[in-house]
Amino acid sequence: MRELTVELGERSYPIYIGQGIINQIVAYFDRAKLSRKSPLLIVTDETVAPLHLERVLTLLREGGFAVTACVVPAGETSKSLAQLEGIITAALQAGLDRSSAILALGGGVVGDLAGFAAASFMRGVRFVQIPTTILAHDSSVGGKVAVNHPMAKNIIGAFHQPELVLFDIELLLTLPPREVKAGLSEVIKHGLIWDAEFTQWCADHADELLDLDPDALSYALYIGCKVKSIVVSQDERENDLRAILNLGHTIGHALEAVAGYGELLHGEAIAIGMVGAAKLAQQFGYGEEIHKVTKDMFQKYGLPVRIPAHLDTDSIMSAMTHDKKFKEGTMVYIIPTEIGKVEIRKDVTVHQVREIVELLKE
Ligand code: NAD
Ligand code: MG
Repeated sequence: MRELTVELGERSYPIYIGQGIINQIVAYFDRAKLSRKSPLLIVTDETVAPLHLERVLTLLREGGFAVTACVVPAGETSKSLAQLEGIITAALQAGLDRSSAILALGGGVVGDLAGFAAASFMRGVRFVQIPTTILAHDSSVGGKVAVNHPMAKNIIGAFHQPELVLFDIELLLTLPPREVKAGLSEVIKHGLIWDAEFTQWCADHADELLDLDPDALSYALYIGCKVKSIVVSQDERENDLRAILNLGHTIGHALEAVAGYGELLHGEAIAIGMVGAAKLAQQFGYGEEIHKVTKDMFQKYGLPVRIPAHLDTDSIMSAMTHDKKFKEGTMVYIIPTEIGKVEIRKDVTVHQVREIVELLKE
């Protein structure tokens, strides 16, 4: 078992990563001082529920916790005010009180939704993350929680840090291969922005990670969570440094929006975006090597590195300029300066980005 702490003063919390650690959930809850006197509510989705819910419910009930579950449909559309209301209804019906906790058992969708429910129910109750996707190593750390509005993603949200993150890699074994790759894309991102040695390690261990080898996977998730937690500890509310986590996301978000959510998974879209950022780096005088390493890496992981031909450049650019990072002809852009290091540039022009988008086209 690996353990690390997200250092946020009195809001600090532990992340536990390991194989089979869900079996000790009661001990972890006791360590976090979760109350047996107040009911718990698990939020999960229709895909995860038949795979893993029963086990978690049984462990907690045997440990003396009163716990019920609220199951939402799988997928991004569940990050909605309608589903939020459903969770609040379930919380009221189950008699949750101020000392209760809401538990997210699922990927980033469930984490963001359950987290926002925990942030808003009774003006805030305790929250536990039990991630079941690789991508959720990213979403479960850092306290950003939100639901979507039909006009904008993640626009109704809060900062609400969990009490603990319990990351059992056994729960990841049921993931479809495409979700595995897409999740690893964010793991690799954490290397590219912060840790050259880990980036090399990712290049050397692609087969093990794609096969979900427990040792490789727990190490990769540990480093991914560690990078994220270091960045978040220094800048909880995204005043400056936290923006570096957006490497690849400017193009990535635009591609997701234009393709229609679902055609490109988030991890796939940002893989293309990171190749684009590496290409852009060359225009600012940084070495060709960054682009080569980045592109080779994502190819090794079977992730896309080119923009699908049918996605129209004008539409991509207009999706990007609606992005909140856009401002008057130039945009804030995260550019790699070497492997394991990035800078936040404010002088990247829309024109330069357009050129990159054209270059990336299939
Ligand atoms: P997800 O939660 O939709 O999970 C992806 C799919 O895998 C779903 O269909 C889900 O049902 C299924 N699934 C989950 N666990 C499984 C398992 N163990 N076995 C089989 N199937 C399983 O999506 P995601 O990729 O985990 O997360 C994406 C979401 O995370 C987005 O909404 C994004 O905005 C959010 N996010 C938030 C943050 C943050 O800081 N809060 C950071 C990154 C991403
Ligand atoms: Mg992301």
